[in-house]
This record gives sequence, C-alpha cells and structure tokens, in this order.
Amino acid sequence: MAITKATCPYCGVGCGVLIESDGEKITNVTGDPDHPANFGRLCTKGSTLHLTAQPHGRALYPEMRTNRATFRVRRDWDVTLDFLAQRFAETIKQYGPDSVGFYISGQLLTEDYYVFNKLAKGLIGTNNVDTNSRLCMSSAVTGYKATLGADAPPCSYEDIDHADLIFIAGSNTAYAHPILFRRIEAAKEKNPNLKIIVVDPRRTDTAAFADLHLPILPGTDVALFNGMLHLLLWDGATDQDFIREHTEGIDALKAIVRDCTPRLTAEICGIAEADLIKAATWFGESRAVLSLYCQGLNQSQHGTEKNAAIINLHLATGQIGKPGAGPFSLTGQPNAMGGREVGGMANLLSAHRDLKNPEHRAEVARLWGVSSVPDQPGKTAVEMFEAVRSGHIKILWIACTNPAQSMPHQALIHEALNKAELVIVQEAYADTETAAYADVLLPATTWGEKSGTVTNSERRISLIKSAITAPGEARADWRIAVDFAHRLEAILRPGQATLFPYENPEAIFNEHREMTRGRDLDITGMSYELLVQRGPQQWPFPEGASHGKTRLYENGIFPTPSGKAKFVAATYKPVAEVIDARFPLRLNTGRMRDQWHGMSRTGKVARLFAHAEEPRLSMSSKDMLRRNVSGGDLVRIKSRRGEMVIRAESSDDLRAGQTFLPMHWGGQFMRGLGVNELTINVTDPTSKQPELKNCAVQVEKADLPWRLVAMAIGEADESAAALARLQALRFHLNDFEFATCGLFGRDQECVIFRGANATAANPDILANIEQILGLDQSLGVMHYQDKRKAISRRVRVVNGKVAAVCLFGDVVAEEWLKDWLSTGHLVSDLRRMLLAPIATPPKGFTTRGRVVCNCLNVSETEIAAHIAGDSSFVEQAAMLASLQQRFKCGTECGSCVPELRRMIGNNATKAA
Ligand code: SF4
Repeated sequence: MAITKATCPYCGVGCGVLIESDGEKITNVTGDPDHPANFGRLCTKGSTLHLTAQPHGRALYPEMRTNRATFRVRRDWDVTLDFLAQRFAETIKQYGPDSVGFYISGQLLTEDYYVFNKLAKGLIGTNNVDTNSRLCMSSAVTGYKATLGADAPPCSYEDIDHADLIFIAGSNTAYAHPILFRRIEAAKEKNPNLKIIVVDPRRTDTAAFADLHLPILPGTDVALFNGMLHLLLWDGATDQDFIREHTEGIDALKAIVRDCTPRLTAEICGIAEADLIKAATWFGESRAVLSLYCQGLNQSQHGTEKNAAIINLHLATGQIGKPGAGPFSLTGQPNAMGGREVGGMANLLSAHRDLKNPEHRAEVARLWGVSSVPDQPGKTAVEMFEAVRSGHIKILWIACTNPAQSMPHQALIHEALNKAELVIVQEAYADTETAAYADVLLPATTWGEKSGTVTNSERRISLIKSAITAPGEARADWRIAVDFAHRLEAILRPGQATLFPYENPEAIFNEHREMTRGRDLDITGMSYELLVQRGPQQWPFPEGASHGKTRLYENGIFPTPSGKAKFVAATYKPVAEVIDARFPLRLNTGRMRDQWHGMSRTGKVARLFAHAEEPRLSMSSKDMLRRNVSGGDLVRIKSRRGEMVIRAESSDDLRAGQTFLPMHWGGQFMRGLGVNELTINVTDPTSKQPELKNCAVQVEKADLPWRLVAMAIGEADESAAALARLQALRFHLNDFEFATCGLFGRDQECVIFRGANATAANPDILANIEQILGLDQSLGVMHYQDKRKAISRRVRVVNGKVAAVCLFGDVVAEEWLKDWLSTGHLVSDLRRMLLAPIATPPKGFTTRGRVVCNCLNVSETEIAAHIAGDSSFVEQAAMLASLQQRFKCGTECGSCVPELRRMIGNNATKAA
C-alpha cells in the first residue's frame, strides 16, 4: 500500500489528507496529522473522499461532435487539439481575441490556473478568463483591496485560539467549513470566556452554538456594521491612536454612521436594540476580535460594501495585525486563493498586479516575453455568459466547473450554451449538466490523480502529489492547456520560442514564483523541495526568509500609496429584488453539511445522501399554515425567472417571510435546472459577484396527487450498478412535474427515484422505469394492482431479499419500505404487507429517519429517543457525553456535534 500526501478538494479550509492506494486504485483516505489546517481531522465530506474515486461517470477519452444534432464520438488527443487550435485561430482572426472566453474554476491547481491565464492574456490577447470563484469570493477581494490595499486575508487559523470574541457573519461555518468549526468548538472549550456572535438570518447550527445570535433581515449587514460602529464611536470604544496613525477616511465614514442610531439600525435589521448594543459592547471591550465571514456577505449586489463595512469595524478598533484579531474571509473552494494569486480572473493580473496599471501590465508582458497584455477588463462570469448569448463570444472553454448548474438565472445560461458556436468542456466527469453541452469534451484528471499546489484560506500553500495514474486518456489540466497552447502559438506566432516551455507542474510553479518577486505575496523563498521537506507554508515567504508570515500588517503599514488603511464610507442599500404581493417571500440559498457544490463528486456516494436525502424548501410554520402546506407536501416555488416543484419542510430556523433552499441539487438530481432556475443574476458593480443569496419568490401548494417511488437495492460493494441505474433513471426526471433521484444505503448502495404528476404518468415511461430496476421480469416479481384506484406495487425478490420496488399511485409505504430494504430484512413478511390493499409496516417497525452521525451511522430517531428517554441530564454537556457513550455519535469526524447539541437544546426548550 502506498501513502500519498494531498489536500481535500472541497472547501477552502484546505485540510491535508493521506491517500492510501494500491498503485491502481485509491483504497482509503485519512487526515494528515502533520497538516497545520486540520492536524489529522476530516469532516464527513473529506473522510469519504476515497468512495468518490471510482470510474463511473468519468470522462475517459476526448470526444467531439460535428453538430448539435449528433452524439459526440471518440477522437484522439492530437486530432482534437489540432481542431481546436484551428478553430480558435480562425475565430480570433475573423472576430478578434475577445470572441473567445475561458470559464475556469477554484478547483483547479495553481499551476493549471497559471497556464490558462497566460494562454488567454499572454498568447491570445484577451482578458476573457474568469472563474467560478467569481460566484464565491470576488467581493472579498474587492473588500480587502478597497480597505487594506491588497487582496490578502491578514489572519491565520491559529488566531481562533487567541481571540476572545469571534464574530461570524454570513457563514454557516459548522456546515461549510466544518474542520474550522471544530477549532472554534475546541477554543470555546479551552476558554469558556471566549464569546461568539453569529450574524445570520437563519438560526443555523453555527448560530445555535453562539453566545449571541443576530438574526438580521437578509441583506442588512451594512446597516448592522454601521450601527455597531455608531455605538463604538459614541461609547469611545474605538482605538484613536490606531485610527490616527494607520488609517485614513474616518471622517467621511463618521458622517454616514452618525445617523445609524441603535433604534434605526435595530429596525432596519429586524433585531432587538439590546442585542445590537450587546454586540457592539462585546466588540469594543474585547482584547482580540476575529471576524469570520463568507458567502452571506459576498454573494450580494453590495458584497464589496458589506466586506468593507466589517473591515471598518476592525480598523476603528485596531483589531488587526495582532494575535486573535482581524477580518478573515473564508474561501469556499479549495484553491480560490491560488486563482487570485496568479491573477486568473477577468479583471486581475498575475501576482496581485492591477490590470488598470500600465506599469503592471508592462511588467507582466516583460516577464511573459510578450509585447503587451490587454488593458481592457475581460468579461466576468455573468457577463461572459451574456456575451456568449448575444453572440459576442463565439467559443467558450469551460474547465473543471459546472455553470449549467451553478450560475444564477439558469434559463439564460442554458440559452447561452445552446447559442455558442463551440463549447469545449474540460472535465473529469462526463455526466455533469454542462458536459451535456460540450461539442468537445476533454477528459481531465481529478483528485488523487493531480500534482501541483493549492492555497487555502489562511494563505497556506500545500504541495499535493498524484496517488494513482488517471483512467483512460485523461490528462492533467495544465497539460491540456499547454498542449493546446503549443498548437495555437504555432499558428499565431510561427517560428517564435514557445511561451509554454513546461514539462511538469514544478516548472510552472517556478515561473509563477518569479512573478511574485517583490509583491505582497512574494513566494520566492518557496520551492517544491521546501514544501516537501517542511510541509505547507504561508505567504509571503520571500527569498532569504526562514518561514512565511502568520499574520499581516503587524507593523500597521498597509500596501496602499500612503501606507495607511482606508475606511470605506459604505452605506446600507436594500437587496436587489424587492418582495411584493406577487412574490412575497425571500429565498436564501446555501450549503448542506454532506454535499458539495453541484454534487458531481459527492452525488456518487450513497451515505452522503443520508443526512439530507433530497432538496427541501425550508419555510416558517406560519408561512406554511397560511398556504395550507404541511411538512412533506409538494409546493411550487416561483421567482421572476423560473419555477420548480419541491417538497416543503417546516423550520424554526427561519422567521416568517423567509425561505431557504440548498444550492446543490441541479438537473442531474431533480426535474428542471435546480435552485438556480430561481436565483437572480444581478451583480455587485465592483466585484461583479452575483446576488445568489437573495431573491423574491412565491410559494403555493402543488396539487400533484399521482405519485411514483422506485427503488433498487444493490448487492454489497455494487456502487457501480447503483450509479448506472441512477444514470438511466435521470433521463426520466423531466417526464414528471416533480421528480428527484439519488442514492441511499450504506453497505448496499441503493438508488431511488420519486415522481409526482397531476394524473397518472405515461405507461411507457413507467414500463421503462420498471425495466431499469429489473421489475419487468416475470421471475421473482410480485405484483399488486388496483386498477380502479390506479395503484400498483411491484416487488422483485432475489435470494429471499427484496431487490427492487416500484410503487405507483399510492406511495405511503415508501418511508418504512426504504429502511426495510436497505437494512436487508428477509422478505417473508413483506409479501403479506405489500400485497394487501393498504401497505402497512410490520408491527413495531419504526423508520430510522435521517442519519445525523454519518461516520457511525446513527439516526435522528435513535438520538431523539435517547434524549427524550433520559430526563436525568439537565446539562447539555452531560447529555452529549451520554449520547456519545451510547452510540459513539460525534466521536469520529465531529461534523454532527453541532446538530447533537441543537437536538439536546431543542428538547430542553420543549420540556421547559
Ligand atoms: Fe475537506 Fe471538510 Fe476539510 Fe473542508 S473541512 S477541506 S470539506 S475535510
């Protein structure tokens, strides 16, 4: 068995992992005890990474099609890349360099990013290179630059241990950055005086852990931060020396916050005035304040101002550049930071250089050996798809991302992809929503197969190594870009030395390193060798330094012309889309604990569906009552852009008027285009980040009485069969007015498909679904049918156990049947129960419900029963210990501990 060091490819915490492999296959994954981001811990997503390393759905060979009406066929790499180079050259010649665009990804390694950036800006001469990081952290970039002068998070994870107030705004850290949340929990346990404030419209697991939760109305963050600053100024709790010596612009800001009285602020934000005062008092009194923030601030039409307003609080109180203090933006993706470092966005230049600055452009051109780099900003994510739709961009190259699921206002994105003259998709997976649009599919390597570097949220660069060789003819992302670039430069600049003389990722890293010389992110003291010998390192790490910097701005000098940080006079402005009588509810979107982005990876692991099996619309009980909707009912949710049918659930986490949908489920797992069919594509004017977290919707009960549930149970270790069935069932998602599909089970991977219609579905479709599940055979299939009521139950039995079930018309048996099947009970009793007019579960059989602890497979029902059954524990900690002793839940990765605490707390509230 070989062990290879890498990092987790999911969130920006950037946990180190040790990949176990047998030379051909990845067999296991564990946390790297030496990695400073996680010290050996992994969350549910990270600890199941090895289960995602499977061949199903992978893109294995280059494929091309001659026109949209035909299927793609396999081609070899040379033919494919020659074709692409020719098409690019012709298009550039006819329409200019801005007629092509590259939409890349925060999942790429820094070396991949570097080559794409140089290809677009250095060789082709267009700044049309943007990335899905635009949807995630571009407002953090503009917020940092506007205030501190550079795009550099000034803090480190270890600041959590030194803070005495952690101020979390717009981040459900417990779900989105679980291992960081473990550090917060540990810090709180070590220092009970540590206070935690969480600002979030929802009472998330993160908010439930806080000493003070400020459930502000969506989008009112700037009003809150300005109101807090008003109080700090009024109370004399600011740091006058720091303001005088290290900042500028306080007077303009003071003029704005003067009017932000506690009463007005509390009214705008919808919170108690006393809580606002408490938050400001704690902020002002604390020795060290660490702010952690994420998409709640970034994914907004006013994201730059929200970021700046929170940084204003730190500058006004001198809470920066010292242990435990500073504004710390958490990145959503594993290498969004690396992309920023190489300037891999439409308005950035390499090594934090400014596109608008002619000296910076000349510097980059000189270092790259080209005459110039273009001076006009390229198209950012939303603009790029608009330009494709309008025909200004003819060729779109998409690498390692799934815009046909993740971009807002999906109808426009799909229209754009349909209109593009040529869509190239460079992907590890052939089964994404976007891959369906590929005229050319380029198979790429993925986690476990790649080598290069990534940078996590705390500016820490890790070197990762490939553990196994890629399947089929998949190539490394940097290699594909270089192979294409060689062909294109042979046409565009014949006879000249190549701009891409790289034989391995290390050569690319070394060139990137040189670009950083003398810049704020100088890494000239780093090398692959150093990263191997000494492990991950933080930047800056200039030549001659013995280590990187844990904390920036300790000397109070900022990378601005004056050396002083700047207050930004941010003013509160309402969200982009107002609610009205037609669209009276607000929709918020966000992450679930066990899924990642568009599920192209996590959607292949059955156990990752156990915590949240399908997408549900969370609503307040008041809003549900008003619409006569009960938990589990189907509802139709509409925005001004699209609509979808989904199951509703009641949630105490939201106040009336607000709703929440998870961001993950797209057209591969449900009917339609997913949540982003509803979201709005309005962007922040500076950062160009779209307001994915806020739009106006209407919700009404969907009257779809005819139901279908189809499930099949795989044999042990038969995940490939389950995934193949899932793929086949997907083709029927749009045959129903409501439909979802997914996986369940643990040792046996099972597939499930649910559908609903106003009237019975087409018999041919039903026959096809039955055939996919093997229910069309006569042998071993039991059948109950009531034609009058249009009810049908068909069950296939193999070796005395149920292998597949299809319920039409009446599906009430679904709940218990799913548990019954996945736990492998024998079939003898089932015959009687299923073939009766009303299918009832066996006496005493209870369903397990959601799995809360995924590592130890402990369900909500078991936990709730234990909590309710033992009233002797009045203390939350004692009950948690009791649960952990009984079930061991929360003792492995710890991702479920916030939810366990919440369940205990809810029970105590109910009892009281
Ligand atoms: Fe991966 Fe979880 Fe660590 Fe994020 S916190 S990097 S998802 S293991």
